[in-house]
Amino acid sequence: MKTRTALYPGTFDPMTLGHLDIIKRASKLCDKLVIAVAINHGKNPLFSLDERVEMVELAIEPLRAEIEVEVKPFEGLLIHFVESVGASVIVRGLRAVSDFEYEFQMAGMNDRLNPSIETVFLMADPQYQTIASRLVKEIARLGGDIGPFVTPDVEKRLKEKYA
Ligand code: ADP
Repeated sequence: MKTRTALYPGTFDPMTLGHLDIIKRASKLCDKLVIAVAINHGKNPLFSLDERVEMVELAIEPLRAEIEVEVKPFEGLLIHFVESVGASVIVRGLRAVSDFEYEFQMAGMNDRLNPSIETVFLMADPQYQTIASRLVKEIARLGGDIGPFVTPDVEKRLKEKYA
């Protein structure tokens, strides 16, 4: 049987419970999940690439018993990375209508670049749907409680960043 590999790309700056929920859902749909952490200079991330990879690694540790999962940093064209890991599916999360326009264009362009790769959109559980890394960072910077939005590890790291 062919191994079905899915790739979930993102900046994960930092990883939130929304990302984690999408990862859990995606893991039910494939044999192997690659979580691709984008270098993403353009977004000027708060956390270094190594820190972002570490946060994802820690959060997904309990999932390793259930599915083959790898966390990999990547730079360059997404579709090339998808091809290089042998994935046939790109997983993206959709939160609100505001995500749609951008995701629609990305999925369309990636389909033109390689029509054999399918983009699949998943929605998080309603309690996680409004979580965005950008807002979590803003709340942490202003001293608010970010406990409901991230893992204890990420909460600790954010507090240290803004201490
Ligand atoms: P990117 O820079 O690629 O958008 P992000 O780390 O912000 O990276 O997001 C990665 C993916 O996870 C995107 O598809 C985004 O829509 C999705 N995502 C982020 N937070 C949530 C959430 N709370 N619920 C559902 N999907 C989410």
